[in-house]
Amino acid sequence: MIDLVTRAAWGARAPRGSYSPLLSTRGVKVHYTGDRVDPALLDDHDRCVAKVRQVQAFHMDGNGWIDIGYSMVACPHRKVFVGRGPGHVCAANGGGLNSAHFAVLALVGNAGLVEPNDELLLGVMDAIDYLREHGGAGKEIKGTATATPPAARGTPCTGGCARARPGRAGSRPRRLSRPLAVTCRRSRGGCSPTRRWSAARTCASGRRR
Ligand SMILES: [Zn+2]
Repeated sequence: MIDLVTRAAWGARAPRGSYSPLLSTRGVKVHYTGDRVDPALLDDHDRCVAKVRQVQAFHMDGNGWIDIGYSMVACPHRKVFVGRGPGHVCAANGGGLNSAHFAVLALVGNAGLVEPNDELLLGVMDAIDYLREHGGAGKEIKGTATATPPAARGTPCTGGCARARPGRAGSRPRRLSRPLAVTCRRSRGGCSPTRRWSAARTCASGRRR
């Protein structure tokens, strides 16, 4: 069962405008922060809350968006923060791409905490399930080739249940919201708790980014 962190619980600022409604999508794009995530957050969920507030502030005050760009945010304690939530167009996937997929941020970055633990991967899957149930999200789970945290490059996929992989060629890099594609291979017993994420060495277009 999903462990939701409501907007009130994480101290979200009210959106500055009205969301655009979105009744269904092709699926979900999974992102990482694209900046440093403090590994101390692993032992202190309050730091997850602070990070999500920081991301919201950056999106609203830096990008000028009406709210945090993500639909939901998963943290390494298997908690799922409500961002814009289901039913609303996100802002994190890039111009023209936001109505095709919801956006889930996994709280890992490209420095500091770069590899998700199992609880985080499970949280991402909880968020995806939630968006499917409540937001009409379709089956796709993807991101772009720009997404791979450097430390994860070339890491063998040992668990086989969830893994990052390059997305489609031509996907554009995003400054603070680089999507990760995560796939979940469910076996008869469900997702393996020992799953790992890894990434191909090069992106789909053959370029390293
Ligand atoms: Zn947390």
